[in-house]
Amino acid sequence: MLSYRHSFHAGNFADLLKHIVLVEILDHLLKKDTAFDYIDTHAGAGLYDLRSAQSQKTLEHSGGIARLNFADWPELDRYAEVVGSFNKTDAVNFYPGSPSIVGCFLRPQDRAWLFELHPQDYQLLQKNFAGRKNIRVYHTDGFDGLKALIPPRSRRGLVLIDPSYEIKSDYDLVIDQVAKAYKKFSQGIYAIWYPVVDRNTIQRMQKKLINSGIRNIQCFELGVMPDSREHGMTASGMLVINPPWTLMSKISALLPKLATLVSQCGSQIYQCATLVEE
Ligand code: SAM
Repeated sequence: MLSYRHSFHAGNFADLLKHIVLVEILDHLLKKDTAFDYIDTHAGAGLYDLRSAQSQKTLEHSGGIARLNFADWPELDRYAEVVGSFNKTDAVNFYPGSPSIVGCFLRPQDRAWLFELHPQDYQLLQKNFAGRKNIRVYHTDGFDGLKALIPPRSRRGLVLIDPSYEIKSDYDLVIDQVAKAYKKFSQGIYAIWYPVVDRNTIQRMQKKLINSGIRNIQCFELGVMPDSREHGMTASGMLVINPPWTLMSKISALLPKLATLVSQCGSQIYQCATLVEE
């Protein structure tokens, strides 16, 4: 079942947190000249036109990237630079997905592996990265791809796991797959996105990850309203395994401000926590 298209959601409050965390991790990886591999198990189309019929139908970006005036956020200069590089004016008409963000950071020695199952989004993804020698695009299941690629030759890597959670069992599947991957590549950085639709499901997912034996896990959440069973996704989070040592201080300083920016209820909804110590 592949009904999800990220074009309906690009640039929303969930993308803000996901991509700000992604940029921070990439910035850290670039501090060493040593090559790294980036694996995006659920890549999407790569780039989104926020004036498209899909984006205009939901207007989700109006609660996310459209609220962000980069001039007021010097701490997000790298993210601003990346988003700006896809837009000719200050208005954000094009929003880069995770593969395009990573594409801005890759050096000749680094490689990216992108997996996307939706036939149309796969085609768009392929088109967006045609001619980029060190970026490979596959129309394959992302978890199978991950299994085949790890440990990467560089032994330095970032894995982004960003499914659409269309099926309830996806929450369990993600943790099972991460636990398997970690056994083969325990030094990798893993960033796992999740939506908060039902808090019990997220608590179960986090408990399963904590009990998996994986060390060094941090969690960051940003929401627009308190937990509720009536409003769909009220928050979303990122679980980061083997985070850069600066990530907690950077994201915890940003979250209160971001929570004010995206709030739909007048209060700040966010969390940051170390789930498992090093
Ligand atoms: N990571 C993207 C970003 O940040 O711009 C957004 C990805 S979107 C949330 C999830 C994508 O995963 C969808 O495009 C969907 O078609 C794709 N997908 C779903 N199941 C998949 C699977 N098993 N393997 C690869 N892609 C899958």
